[in-house]
Amino acid sequence: MDLTSFTDGAQYIAGKLTGGTGSESFDVVNPADGSTVERVRLASTADVDAAVAAAAAALPDWSRATPGSRSEALLRLSAILADRAEDFARVETAQTGKPIKLSTEFDVPGTIDNTAFFAGAARNLEGKAAGEYSGDHTSYVRREPIGVVGSISPWNYPLQMAAWKILPAIAAGNTIVLKPAELTPLTSLMFARACTEAGIPDGVVNVVTGAGRSAGEHLVSHPGVSMVSFTGSTPVGKRVAELATATVKRTHLELGGKAPFVVFEDADLDAAVHGAVAGSLINSGQDCTAATRAYVQRPLYEAFVAGVAELFAAVRLGDPLNPRTDLGPLVSFTHRDRVAGFVERARGYGARVVTGGAAPEVGHDGTDLTRGAYYRPTLITDVAQDSEVVQGEIFGPVLVVLPFDSDDEGMRLANDTPYGLAASAWTRDIQRSLRATREIAAGCVWINDHIPIISEMPHGGYKSSGFGKDMSQYSLDEYTQVKHVMYDITAVARKDWHRTVFGDRA
Ligand code: NAD
Repeated sequence: MDLTSFTDGAQYIAGKLTGGTGSESFDVVNPADGSTVERVRLASTADVDAAVAAAAAALPDWSRATPGSRSEALLRLSAILADRAEDFARVETAQTGKPIKLSTEFDVPGTIDNTAFFAGAARNLEGKAAGEYSGDHTSYVRREPIGVVGSISPWNYPLQMAAWKILPAIAAGNTIVLKPAELTPLTSLMFARACTEAGIPDGVVNVVTGAGRSAGEHLVSHPGVSMVSFTGSTPVGKRVAELATATVKRTHLELGGKAPFVVFEDADLDAAVHGAVAGSLINSGQDCTAATRAYVQRPLYEAFVAGVAELFAAVRLGDPLNPRTDLGPLVSFTHRDRVAGFVERARGYGARVVTGGAAPEVGHDGTDLTRGAYYRPTLITDVAQDSEVVQGEIFGPVLVVLPFDSDDEGMRLANDTPYGLAASAWTRDIQRSLRATREIAAGCVWINDHIPIISEMPHGGYKSSGFGKDMSQYSLDEYTQVKHVMYDITAVARKDWHRTVFGDRA
């Protein structure tokens, strides 16, 4: 099957691509040059209803399938993804503008590994041991699927986000309706089609391509949906939580980030400088865990700023399909302008833009970058901790660097935003690093690195970055509910505890 053809439509319902019944069209645009990759028809609320109905119809059989058979299907899926890796990487780059080396070496292999991980995890549901905790009963827990999951994903890592939502949900025996971001639906649709090719029954995985306000809100409020898992910005997450709470749904929210990058005076400066460049520019900074605020202890501050500025200026912007390109465009022209707006306002309140702060014109490979949504790697200093560039999620290739003096001050500044998704600390001192891992309030703290993730370990936020974990066994647990089953083992008719309600001791 050619997974990359969307001529039949952009709704994947009950194992088939269909055009749906919506009347609005949307152009998926390649932000590298403004060309249309695909024109899709957006989902109507009736399409969402059809997808939820398909997921509900598939639920009884899928939830009762053995863990072994679900696992086998996921193993087949991982082989299909590996087989089509090039197609996935190419389409991911076309719809997002991310460099092909990132799609090829990070997004796609990460997704394949996640799939293989959840194939194993499907067979490893955990719980307390059965036992006679009351003395008179045997208790055990059943870990059961929740039902139909409604998921909503963002545009920054469309394939990986689809995988992070779909895989734990179906490994645990749920069925799912995923609504990807309207800007980037294509690899989510390909992933769903690959699920069918792997033998996952029709209706287990459905994708509706629609707008947030209509299809998204309809999905989140749908009475047929039992759990909502959302990845996206904090403001939209709040709205999703409101809607999901009104209908008492299990809610899982992976929201925004503003990761600190704390460099202590004893750090390996070269490692910290290179780590800051890679950690802040990954995916053009459109990464919820990207390093956005570097706090550098005073003795290293000047050298760190100079080192990062030098490397930022050497980053190769260009055609994302060129394997030597380091940095592609941002996801859209609107988003590029939003990022540029943060930098312009920062200039207005006295920030020093050390390097960048403008759209480039020509790429390292001669590409005309004015046709795309490009923005130069931008380094900002001399701003207050409470300024917008330090507090707000810019989601672009922009790093702010500020100095600090005492260790306590560094930790305090690191924690001083509403977010708490990820952070890193750079030091060669073991006690310092252990204190940093304890003090920093974030769902992930790296020591002497920033960005790596792995299937076996959880990803998720503290504070306004949300709650719930993606990847790992922890995420599988999130997509299950625990039922306590209690058996009387005494066969005594008049039980001793009854007297607390009526009568006397037997
Ligand atoms: P967004 O919040 O604008 O959109 C996310 C999704 O929500 C999209 O599918 C969108 O269509 C949908 N949506 C929008 N309005 C909605 C509504 N009213 N009801 C229901 N759905 C609605 O986010 P984005 O711009 O696509 O992605 C960037 C954001 O995602 C950043 O804030 C980033 O930090 C966050 N993110 C977080 C993680 C994480 O793991 N915590 C991972 C990736 C991205």
